[in-house]
Amino acid sequence: MPKKKRYKIKSSCPQCGCSFASHLTDEELKKRYGDVPNIELECDECMLKYHKPRQKVCPEWDKACKLEEKS
Ligand SMILES: [Zn+2]
Repeated sequence: MPKKKRYKIKSSCPQCGCSFASHLTDEELKKRYGDVPNIELECDECMLKYHKPRQKVCPEWDKACKLEEKS
């Protein structure tokens, strides 16, 4: 199987400032967050659910999706 590219999701909680980081493949990202401009994240520390624009938490993934749409 070919090695799948993993995208880095990086954010910080607006309430407690705790940082969040995750590495997911494109498939996992779409399954977990859907194909929407704002993705929902949940803080591990205070359990707050918050939304962030996709291009902010993962510019690389956002770029990949835009490239995909064009082809
Ligand atoms: Zn938090």
